[in-house]
Amino acid sequence: MLFHLKRCFAFSIIVPLLLTGADAHAGNGSSVKLRTVVIDAGHGGHDPGTISPDKKIKESTINLDIALTLGKKIDEAFPDVKVLYTRKKDVFIPLAQRADIANRNNADLFISIHVNSVPKKTGVRGVETFVMGTDKSASNMEVCKRENSVILLEKDYSTTYQGFDPSNAESYIFFNLMQNASFEQSIEMASLVQKQLKKGPITVDRGIKQAPILVLWKTTMPAVLVEVGFLSNPSDRKILASKSERNRIADNIFKAFSAFKNGYDEEIAFVEEPETDIPDGKVFRIQIMASSKNLGEGSPQFKGLKNVEKQRINGLYKYTVGSYSSQEKAAAALKTVKEKFPEAFIVYR
Ligand SMILES: [Zn+2]
Repeated sequence: MLFHLKRCFAFSIIVPLLLTGADAHAGNGSSVKLRTVVIDAGHGGHDPGTISPDKKIKESTINLDIALTLGKKIDEAFPDVKVLYTRKKDVFIPLAQRADIANRNNADLFISIHVNSVPKKTGVRGVETFVMGTDKSASNMEVCKRENSVILLEKDYSTTYQGFDPSNAESYIFFNLMQNASFEQSIEMASLVQKQLKKGPITVDRGIKQAPILVLWKTTMPAVLVEVGFLSNPSDRKILASKSERNRIADNIFKAFSAFKNGYDEEIAFVEEPETDIPDGKVFRIQIMASSKNLGEGSPQFKGLKNVEKQRINGLYKYTVGSYSSQEKAAAALKTVKEKFPEAFIVYR
Protein backbone atom coordinates (compact mmCIF):
# COMPACT_ATOMS: atom_id res chain seq x y z
CA MET A 1 0.00 0.00 0.00
CA LEU A 2 1.37 3.31 -0.98
CA PHE A 3 -0.36 5.70 1.31
CA HIS A 4 1.48 7.52 4.06
CA LEU A 5 -0.51 7.53 7.25
CA LYS A 6 1.88 9.97 8.87
CA ARG A 7 0.58 12.74 6.71
CA CYS A 8 -2.90 12.22 8.01
CA PHE A 9 -1.84 13.07 11.53
CA ALA A 10 0.33 15.93 10.39
CA PHE A 11 -2.79 17.63 9.13
CA SER A 12 -5.06 16.75 12.01
CA ILE A 13 -5.15 20.39 13.16
CA ILE A 14 -7.03 21.16 9.98
CA VAL A 15 -9.89 18.87 10.91
CA PRO A 16 -12.01 21.46 12.80
CA LEU A 17 -12.11 23.61 9.67
CA LEU A 18 -13.54 20.76 7.67
CA LEU A 19 -16.25 19.99 10.17
CA THR A 20 -18.25 22.91 8.88
CA GLY A 21 -18.68 20.87 5.74
CA ALA A 22 -19.51 17.76 7.70
CA ASP A 23 -22.38 19.66 9.33
CA ALA A 24 -24.20 18.88 6.13
CA HIS A 25 -24.75 15.42 7.60
CA ALA A 26 -27.47 16.79 9.86
CA GLY A 27 -30.79 15.04 9.84
CA ASN A 28 -29.54 11.64 8.81
CA GLY A 29 -32.05 9.94 11.03
CA SER A 30 -32.23 8.08 14.25
CA SER A 31 -29.29 5.74 13.94
CA VAL A 32 -26.04 5.70 12.09
CA LYS A 33 -26.43 3.58 9.02
CA LEU A 34 -25.16 3.81 5.52
CA ARG A 35 -28.25 5.24 3.87
CA THR A 36 -27.08 7.16 0.84
CA VAL A 37 -24.38 6.38 -1.68
CA VAL A 38 -23.40 8.62 -4.56
CA ILE A 39 -21.96 6.90 -7.60
CA ASP A 40 -19.94 9.15 -9.85
CA ALA A 41 -19.29 8.08 -13.43
CA GLY A 42 -16.21 10.11 -14.31
CA HIS A 43 -16.14 12.54 -17.25
CA GLY A 44 -18.99 12.72 -19.84
CA GLY A 45 -20.29 15.07 -22.51
CA HIS A 46 -17.53 17.08 -24.16
CA ASP A 47 -15.03 15.45 -21.76
CA PRO A 48 -14.61 11.81 -22.89
CA GLY A 49 -11.76 11.12 -20.41
CA THR A 50 -9.11 8.82 -21.82
CA ILE A 51 -9.69 7.29 -25.27
CA SER A 52 -8.53 4.00 -26.79
CA PRO A 53 -5.75 4.23 -29.45
CA ASP A 54 -8.28 3.47 -32.21
CA LYS A 55 -10.48 6.24 -30.74
CA LYS A 56 -13.43 3.84 -30.58
CA ILE A 57 -13.70 3.43 -26.82
CA LYS A 58 -14.25 6.38 -24.51
CA GLU A 59 -13.54 6.24 -20.79
CA SER A 60 -16.74 8.19 -20.07
CA THR A 61 -18.86 5.40 -21.63
CA ILE A 62 -17.18 2.64 -19.61
CA ASN A 63 -17.45 4.69 -16.41
CA LEU A 64 -21.16 5.27 -16.94
CA ASP A 65 -21.91 1.62 -17.69
CA ILE A 66 -20.09 0.37 -14.59
CA ALA A 67 -21.63 3.13 -12.44
CA LEU A 68 -25.20 2.32 -13.53
CA THR A 69 -24.66 -1.44 -13.16
CA LEU A 70 -23.18 -0.96 -9.70
CA GLY A 71 -26.08 1.27 -8.66
CA LYS A 72 -28.63 -1.24 -9.90
CA LYS A 73 -27.00 -4.02 -7.86
CA ILE A 74 -27.05 -1.86 -4.73
CA ASP A 75 -30.69 -0.89 -5.37
CA GLU A 76 -31.71 -4.52 -5.65
CA ALA A 77 -29.75 -5.80 -2.66
CA PHE A 78 -30.29 -2.86 -0.29
CA PRO A 79 -33.75 -1.31 -0.69
CA ASP A 80 -33.00 0.90 2.34
CA VAL A 81 -30.04 2.54 0.60
CA LYS A 82 -30.66 5.58 -1.57
CA VAL A 83 -28.50 5.36 -4.69
CA LEU A 84 -27.75 8.68 -6.36
CA TYR A 85 -25.73 9.34 -9.48
CA THR A 86 -23.80 12.43 -10.49
CA ARG A 87 -24.87 11.63 -14.04
CA LYS A 88 -27.04 8.95 -15.63
CA LYS A 89 -26.27 9.81 -19.23
CA ASP A 90 -23.53 11.22 -21.40
CA VAL A 91 -23.43 14.77 -20.05
CA PHE A 92 -20.73 17.02 -18.69
CA ILE A 93 -20.86 17.69 -14.95
CA PRO A 94 -18.22 19.97 -13.39
CA LEU A 95 -16.07 18.36 -10.69
CA ALA A 96 -17.19 20.64 -7.88
CA GLN A 97 -20.83 19.95 -8.77
CA ARG A 98 -20.22 16.19 -8.46
CA ALA A 99 -18.92 16.63 -4.94
CA ASP A 100 -21.73 19.06 -4.21
CA ILE A 101 -24.36 16.48 -5.19
CA ALA A 102 -22.91 14.13 -2.58
CA ASN A 103 -22.60 16.83 0.08
CA ARG A 104 -26.08 18.26 -0.47
CA ASN A 105 -27.69 14.83 -0.21
CA ASN A 106 -25.81 13.94 2.98
CA ALA A 107 -24.28 10.94 1.26
CA ASP A 108 -22.48 8.46 3.48
CA LEU A 109 -20.19 7.22 0.74
CA PHE A 110 -18.93 8.52 -2.59
CA ILE A 111 -17.64 6.15 -5.26
CA SER A 112 -16.10 7.62 -8.39
CA ILE A 113 -15.50 5.30 -11.35
CA HIS A 114 -12.68 5.95 -13.82
CA VAL A 115 -10.47 4.25 -16.38
CA ASN A 116 -6.71 4.71 -16.38
CA SER A 117 -4.16 5.18 -19.15
CA VAL A 118 -0.46 5.84 -19.55
CA PRO A 119 0.92 7.24 -22.75
CA LYS A 120 3.45 5.00 -24.55
CA LYS A 121 3.59 2.35 -21.81
CA THR A 122 1.21 -0.28 -23.08
CA GLY A 123 2.54 -2.88 -20.62
CA VAL A 124 1.15 -1.05 -17.61
CA ARG A 125 -2.14 -2.50 -16.46
CA GLY A 126 -4.24 -3.24 -13.41
CA VAL A 127 -6.67 -1.82 -10.90
CA GLU A 128 -6.00 0.88 -8.33
CA THR A 129 -8.08 2.91 -5.92
CA PHE A 130 -7.40 6.46 -4.84
CA VAL A 131 -8.23 8.27 -1.66
CA MET A 132 -7.70 11.95 -1.05
CA GLY A 133 -4.14 12.69 -0.03
CA THR A 134 -0.97 14.44 -0.95
CA ASP A 135 1.30 11.71 -2.25
CA LYS A 136 3.42 13.39 -4.86
CA SER A 137 4.98 10.39 -6.55
CA ALA A 138 5.34 10.98 -10.26
CA SER A 139 2.86 8.34 -11.43
CA ASN A 140 0.17 9.57 -9.06
CA MET A 141 0.70 13.11 -10.28
CA GLU A 142 -0.11 11.92 -13.77
CA VAL A 143 -3.37 10.39 -12.63
CA CYS A 144 -4.43 13.42 -10.66
CA LYS A 145 -3.44 15.79 -13.42
CA ARG A 146 -5.63 13.81 -15.76
CA GLU A 147 -8.59 13.44 -13.42
CA ASN A 148 -8.40 17.04 -12.26
CA SER A 149 -7.80 18.42 -15.72
CA VAL A 150 -11.55 18.31 -16.30
CA ILE A 151 -11.43 21.65 -14.50
CA LEU A 152 -9.94 23.20 -17.61
CA LEU A 153 -12.99 22.15 -19.60
CA GLU A 154 -15.25 24.03 -17.23
CA LYS A 155 -16.24 27.56 -18.12
CA ASP A 156 -15.46 29.44 -14.92
CA TYR A 157 -12.74 27.26 -13.56
CA SER A 158 -10.52 30.12 -12.48
CA THR A 159 -13.18 31.47 -10.13
CA THR A 160 -14.53 28.10 -9.02
CA TYR A 161 -11.12 26.75 -8.14
CA GLN A 162 -9.40 29.99 -7.22
CA GLY A 163 -6.78 29.87 -9.92
CA PHE A 164 -5.91 26.21 -9.38
CA ASP A 165 -4.18 24.94 -12.52
CA PRO A 166 -4.30 21.15 -12.84
CA SER A 167 -1.46 21.06 -15.35
CA ASN A 168 0.94 22.70 -12.94
CA ALA A 169 2.42 20.47 -10.22
CA GLU A 170 3.04 23.52 -8.02
CA SER A 171 -0.68 24.01 -7.80
CA TYR A 172 -0.95 20.84 -5.80
CA ILE A 173 0.53 22.63 -2.82
CA PHE A 174 -2.94 24.14 -2.66
CA PHE A 175 -4.23 20.74 -1.65
CA ASN A 176 -1.60 20.24 1.02
CA LEU A 177 -3.49 22.58 3.30
CA MET A 178 -6.42 20.23 3.37
CA GLN A 179 -7.00 16.73 4.63
CA ASN A 180 -10.19 14.82 4.32
CA ALA A 181 -11.71 14.09 7.72
CA SER A 182 -13.04 10.75 6.49
CA PHE A 183 -9.59 9.43 5.65
CA GLU A 184 -9.73 6.19 7.65
CA GLN A 185 -13.06 5.10 6.24
CA SER A 186 -11.98 6.04 2.75
CA ILE A 187 -8.95 3.79 3.19
CA GLU A 188 -11.20 1.02 4.46
CA MET A 189 -13.47 1.25 1.42
CA ALA A 190 -10.45 1.45 -0.89
CA SER A 191 -9.02 -1.76 0.64
CA LEU A 192 -12.32 -3.57 0.17
CA VAL A 193 -12.53 -2.43 -3.45
CA GLN A 194 -8.99 -3.59 -4.22
CA LYS A 195 -9.57 -6.90 -2.45
CA GLN A 196 -12.56 -7.62 -4.67
CA LEU A 197 -11.30 -6.16 -7.94
CA LYS A 198 -8.10 -8.18 -7.97
CA LYS A 199 -10.21 -11.34 -8.16
CA GLY A 200 -10.63 -10.47 -11.80
CA PRO A 201 -11.25 -10.05 -14.68
CA ILE A 202 -8.32 -7.64 -14.24
CA THR A 203 -6.16 -9.22 -11.56
CA VAL A 204 -3.15 -6.90 -11.42
CA ASP A 205 -3.41 -5.16 -8.05
CA ARG A 206 -1.80 -1.74 -8.13
CA GLY A 207 -2.95 -0.98 -4.60
CA ILE A 208 -4.37 1.98 -2.78
CA LYS A 209 -2.95 5.38 -3.57
CA GLN A 210 -3.26 8.85 -2.24
CA ALA A 211 -3.60 11.75 -4.58
CA PRO A 212 -4.94 15.28 -4.39
CA ILE A 213 -7.98 14.58 -6.55
CA LEU A 214 -10.42 17.43 -6.41
CA VAL A 215 -13.63 15.46 -6.45
CA LEU A 216 -12.42 13.50 -3.40
CA TRP A 217 -11.17 16.55 -1.59
CA LYS A 218 -14.45 18.43 -2.00
CA THR A 219 -16.60 15.62 -0.63
CA THR A 220 -17.26 15.55 3.11
CA MET A 221 -17.86 11.81 3.45
CA PRO A 222 -15.71 8.70 2.86
CA ALA A 223 -14.80 8.85 -0.81
CA VAL A 224 -12.84 6.68 -3.23
CA LEU A 225 -11.92 6.96 -6.88
CA VAL A 226 -11.59 3.59 -8.58
CA GLU A 227 -9.45 3.23 -11.70
CA VAL A 228 -10.85 -0.04 -13.03
CA GLY A 229 -8.13 -0.73 -15.61
CA PHE A 230 -5.95 0.79 -18.34
CA LEU A 231 -7.40 1.68 -21.69
CA SER A 232 -3.81 1.98 -22.93
CA ASN A 233 -3.12 -1.71 -22.23
CA PRO A 234 -4.43 -4.22 -24.83
CA SER A 235 -5.46 -6.88 -22.28
CA ASP A 236 -7.24 -4.43 -19.99
CA ARG A 237 -8.81 -2.73 -22.98
CA LYS A 238 -10.27 -5.97 -24.28
CA ILE A 239 -11.83 -6.65 -20.88
CA LEU A 240 -13.16 -3.11 -20.48
CA ALA A 241 -14.74 -3.26 -23.93
CA SER A 242 -16.79 -6.31 -22.93
CA LYS A 243 -20.20 -5.72 -21.34
CA SER A 244 -20.10 -8.99 -19.39
CA GLU A 245 -16.61 -8.26 -18.03
CA ARG A 246 -17.73 -4.78 -17.01
CA ASN A 247 -20.59 -6.45 -15.19
CA ARG A 248 -18.06 -8.55 -13.25
CA ILE A 249 -16.13 -5.42 -12.36
CA ALA A 250 -19.33 -3.72 -11.16
CA ASP A 251 -20.14 -6.83 -9.17
CA ASN A 252 -16.76 -6.71 -7.43
CA ILE A 253 -17.27 -3.09 -6.46
CA PHE A 254 -20.76 -4.03 -5.28
CA LYS A 255 -19.27 -6.72 -3.01
CA ALA A 256 -16.86 -4.15 -1.60
CA PHE A 257 -19.81 -1.81 -1.01
CA SER A 258 -21.74 -4.57 0.80
CA ALA A 259 -18.81 -5.31 3.09
CA PHE A 260 -18.29 -1.61 3.77
CA LYS A 261 -21.97 -1.10 4.56
CA ASN A 262 -22.06 -4.06 6.92
CA GLY A 263 -19.06 -2.73 8.82
CA TYR A 264 -20.45 0.79 8.83
CA ASP A 265 -23.87 -0.23 10.13
CA GLU A 266 -22.49 -2.41 12.87
CA GLU A 267 -20.09 0.19 14.11
CA ILE A 268 -22.56 2.12 16.19
CA ALA A 269 -25.14 0.78 18.59
CA PHE A 270 -27.32 3.31 20.31
CA VAL A 271 -27.81 2.83 23.98
CA GLU A 272 -31.35 3.81 24.72
CA GLU A 273 -31.63 3.57 28.49
CA PRO A 274 -30.22 6.63 30.27
CA GLU A 275 -27.68 6.21 33.05
CA THR A 276 -29.23 5.64 36.44
CA ASP A 277 -26.31 6.15 38.82
CA ILE A 278 -25.63 9.80 39.52
CA PRO A 279 -22.23 10.29 41.13
CA ASP A 280 -21.36 13.51 42.95
CA GLY A 281 -19.36 16.36 41.44
CA LYS A 282 -20.33 15.56 37.89
CA VAL A 283 -21.96 17.61 35.16
CA PHE A 284 -24.84 17.16 32.77
CA ARG A 285 -23.81 16.04 29.31
CA ILE A 286 -25.62 14.94 26.20
CA GLN A 287 -24.87 11.41 25.12
CA ILE A 288 -25.09 11.07 21.36
CA MET A 289 -24.06 7.47 20.96
CA ALA A 290 -22.29 4.47 22.40
CA SER A 291 -20.08 2.10 20.50
CA SER A 292 -17.63 -0.70 21.00
CA LYS A 293 -15.48 1.15 18.53
CA ASN A 294 -13.02 3.81 19.61
CA LEU A 295 -13.78 6.67 17.25
CA GLY A 296 -11.22 9.39 16.70
CA GLU A 297 -11.77 13.12 16.84
CA GLY A 298 -13.51 14.38 13.74
CA SER A 299 -15.06 10.99 12.92
CA PRO A 300 -17.86 11.36 10.36
CA GLN A 301 -20.05 9.40 12.76
CA PHE A 302 -20.21 12.57 14.89
CA LYS A 303 -22.02 14.29 12.03
CA GLY A 304 -19.99 17.43 12.41
CA LEU A 305 -20.47 17.90 16.16
CA LYS A 306 -17.36 19.36 17.74
CA ASN A 307 -15.67 18.63 21.08
CA VAL A 308 -17.16 15.16 21.40
CA GLU A 309 -15.89 13.57 24.61
CA LYS A 310 -15.55 9.86 25.07
CA GLN A 311 -15.61 7.73 28.18
CA ARG A 312 -15.14 3.99 28.30
CA ILE A 313 -17.83 2.47 30.49
CA ASN A 314 -18.45 -1.27 30.74
CA GLY A 315 -16.52 -1.95 27.57
CA LEU A 316 -18.44 0.61 25.52
CA TYR A 317 -17.25 4.01 24.43
CA LYS A 318 -19.86 6.56 25.32
CA TYR A 319 -19.75 9.75 23.32
CA THR A 320 -21.07 12.94 24.81
CA VAL A 321 -21.17 16.63 23.95
CA GLY A 322 -21.51 19.69 26.17
CA SER A 323 -21.06 20.26 29.86
CA TYR A 324 -23.93 21.86 31.76
CA SER A 325 -24.42 22.87 35.37
CA SER A 326 -28.15 22.18 35.29
CA GLN A 327 -30.51 19.75 33.66
CA GLU A 328 -32.49 22.71 32.26
CA LYS A 329 -29.44 24.02 30.40
CA ALA A 330 -28.69 20.56 29.09
CA ALA A 331 -32.32 20.14 27.98
CA ALA A 332 -32.14 23.39 26.02
CA ALA A 333 -29.01 22.22 24.20
CA LEU A 334 -30.47 18.76 23.67
CA LYS A 335 -33.02 20.17 21.21
CA THR A 336 -30.27 21.16 18.78
CA VAL A 337 -28.33 17.93 19.25
CA LYS A 338 -31.47 15.91 18.54
CA GLU A 339 -31.60 17.41 15.06
CA LYS A 340 -28.59 15.25 14.30
CA PHE A 341 -29.02 12.51 16.87
CA PRO A 342 -32.75 12.07 17.57
CA GLU A 343 -32.01 9.43 20.21
CA ALA A 344 -29.58 11.58 22.18
CA PHE A 345 -30.29 11.96 25.89
CA ILE A 346 -28.97 13.73 28.96
CA VAL A 347 -26.56 11.98 31.28
CA TYR A 348 -25.05 13.11 34.55
CA ARG A 349 -21.50 11.96 34.96
ZN1 LIG B 1 -10.93 9.51 -15.55
